Amino acid sequence: MRQILIFILALLPAAVFSSTKILQIGIYHKDEPKEVIVQANDGSYKVYGNGQEIFDLDSKSILRIQNKNGLIHLRTLSEEIGSYALIEIKRNSWGSIMKLQRTDGDKKHREYNDDFIIKPLSSTLRIINEVYIEHYVAGVVESEAGAKEPKEYYKVQSVICRTYALNNRRRHEAEGFQLCDKVHCQVYHSRSLANPDILKGTQETIGIVIVDSDINLVTAAFSSNCGGYTCNSEDVWSGYLDYLRAIEDDNCIQEPHSYWRYTTTTDTWLNYLKNNHDFPINDPIARNAVLNYCPESRDITWDIDHDGVDRIDFKNIRYDLKLQSAYFSIEQVQDTVILEGHGYGHGVGLCQEGAMNMAKRGIPYDEILHYYYNNIHLVNLSVIDFFRAE
Ligand SMILES: [Zn+2]
Ligand SMILES: [Zn+2]
Repeated sequence: MRQILIFILALLPAAVFSSTKILQIGIYHKDEPKEVIVQANDGSYKVYGNGQEIFDLDSKSILRIQNKNGLIHLRTLSEEIGSYALIEIKRNSWGSIMKLQRTDGDKKHREYNDDFIIKPLSSTLRIINEVYIEHYVAGVVESEAGAKEPKEYYKVQSVICRTYALNNRRRHEAEGFQLCDKVHCQVYHSRSLANPDILKGTQETIGIVIVDSDINLVTAAFSSNCGGYTCNSEDVWSGYLDYLRAIEDDNCIQEPHSYWRYTTTTDTWLNYLKNNHDFPINDPIARNAVLNYCPESRDITWDIDHDGVDRIDFKNIRYDLKLQSAYFSIEQVQDTVILEGHGYGHGVGLCQEGAMNMAKRGIPYDEILHYYYNNIHLVNLSVIDFFRAE
């Protein structure tokens, strides 16, 4: 299949690479401002009100944009411009950067590339960044991975973020944009600013996404640290996905997130199991089993006395007690119960700290992705467009 896809890619005309290049991202989602101040940080913009050109925005001018009685009202520091139902702000040249600052709430300024659409939303502003996908991906990678990783890791995270974005681009269709800027979709609070290797990582994987054997975009799941074993998709969520299979991973176990400890009293632990999971704590054999448990690898379900009846999913205990992961051993020491845990997060798909260590050892990004995702293909977006067009 890989050879076939490479062959198709070689035959594709450049024009096919089209429908997946621009994304519409809802900015300040669910915390929309009443007013923002905008300024061109680099380059210049044309501002349109109800489709008519109304203002030239450059680095010397500041525009206040406010919801006033259900319309978008514009003014500079010295003059009123007018009120409109729709504002569009379009860059004059590639690479222009817009600075946005809200005047209420979190006033930290944000920087974005490319164009904007602003509409009234009740008494606030619906602000949509119409952004070239690679600019968006770099901004998301910076939020997900920080600024201190090797470039090869940024390539890994770029492919994942790009795949996620395209796979979820109908998530906010009803609200008039594609993805929000919060953790609900992917955190996107700014263009990438902190490390030039992030943009290089995005550029060096430009357009590459992960597909399964049917050339469908995958759910590119990842978590911080798998604790030594990743999980099958169906062990944590409802569906079986061929590319999300459990593997043993020793790339992350030296990291601080690989280990955690949770301590409680024996009575609290037993009462929790009785009250939340109807567990027979008065049965001495069962009681002993829940006070001393040491798995050889990651267990998904706890068949406590091996009779197939008293079963508890570890993910439920994780959720109830707000544990770092669902992978832990249990030991009773006098009146105390100690849970010794491994990993941080749900454990499905790519392990970020494992992948970071692989990247530091010089392993190429495509090998890292193939290590954590089973039976996948890395293809250019043009291949996806090609198959959608069929
Ligand atoms: Zn969202
Ligand atoms: Zn791991």
